[in-house]
Amino acid sequence: MDNNWFFGDFHIHSRFSRACSTNITIENLVKWAKIKGINLLGTGDFTHPQWLKEIKEKLVEKNGFYYYEDFPFIITGEVSLIYTQERGRRIHLVLLVPNLEIADKINVYFDTKGRRDYDGRPIFKIPGDEFVRDMMKISKAIEIIPAHIWTPWFGIFGSMSGFDSLKECFKEELENIHAIETGMSSDPEMNWRIAELKDKAIVSFSDAHSFWPFRLGREATIFEKTDSYPGIVEQIRKKTFIATIETDPAYGKYHWDGHRGCNFSCSPEESKKLNGICPICKKPLVIGVDNRVEQLASNEKGFKPENGKPFYKLLPLHELLALVLDSSMESKGVWKEYNSLLEMFGNEFNILLDVSREEFLGKKVDEKIIDVILRNRKEQIKVKPGYDGEYGKALAELKNSENFLLHTHECLRGDKQGKLF
Ligand SMILES: [Zn+2]
Ligand SMILES: [Zn+2]
Repeated sequence: MDNNWFFGDFHIHSRFSRACSTNITIENLVKWAKIKGINLLGTGDFTHPQWLKEIKEKLVEKNGFYYYEDFPFIITGEVSLIYTQERGRRIHLVLLVPNLEIADKINVYFDTKGRRDYDGRPIFKIPGDEFVRDMMKISKAIEIIPAHIWTPWFGIFGSMSGFDSLKECFKEELENIHAIETGMSSDPEMNWRIAELKDKAIVSFSDAHSFWPFRLGREATIFEKTDSYPGIVEQIRKKTFIATIETDPAYGKYHWDGHRGCNFSCSPEESKKLNGICPICKKPLVIGVDNRVEQLASNEKGFKPENGKPFYKLLPLHELLALVLDSSMESKGVWKEYNSLLEMFGNEFNILLDVSREEFLGKKVDEKIIDVILRNRKEQIKVKPGYDGEYGKALAELKNSENFLLHTHECLRGDKQGKLF
């Protein structure tokens, strides 16, 4: 791994966001970012009065980076815009903010539109184009990134309440949008198929709701090392950042079509044969990301633009250890192995990306664990696709086995353990 690499995860949430772990404090975020190998975090939730107060009390500013001891943050948050444009629209946008003075100005603006104290990700009734225009009036250095753009309900391209193009949403303000976030259920390759994204940076962040290392940094963007907010935003706008870390898109919660309640999921091809109707309850399926990309794509599968960034497709280390030990990610055994690997090799990204077979063997790491880590690098871990809010599930079988091909081309109707029947 290059010394110049700088791992950034900017889309996270504080304990003041709904469905978030109550122990997300600044101190815990720093602790787990270091364990994961993240070099720069977003604060998340700068719109929330209490979280903002903590940020102001605990962090010290230099060049738009805000330090807790030696660890830097940038000021970030997420808003949900819910409004009518022909039909109901719901989009989530991540905001990168140059400094706390500008964060305060944005909050003054939000206070003219509604409340921001009930959730770390507040909702406003502001159309996308108007919102971008108003932000640019506050500061051109604010970076607005459409979040997890493919998720059915809150993605800008989502099947339920999104748009068919960025232009439809942002209109004349589209030139002020420089990047989109893939979300877990899609990867850059899927996004390359959308002609409109040709000039946009494709970035990845975790959208973590807890700080455990299988959440925080599960997706991230690798930048060239910098010590300033402008240094980060310039790499996004000029697309000079290095790469992204992705999970297998099947691991995301909305990759395939399906119904969680009916325990039914299927591929886009299969969904077409079913006319989008659930065979169990006979109601329309929740259309997932894979299907939606297919609907909007104008480039062939496998198309790679000249300026496409490299990306790593990796499952978190806890997933791998849970596979080897055949137990849950939170089990004592998994934590024991995790901690012992950390002690030997420093941080998780180093273990996932960099440590060689010989180095593992030198420290007497179990062969099965070495094998699964190396297979992860080659994208050989099979994942049962997630759907309708249910995470995808790493499976012990090899991805390149004949079995896998068979399974991915038929409907998966499985139990919660991912066993097929
Ligand atoms: Zn969101
Ligand atoms: Zn159903």
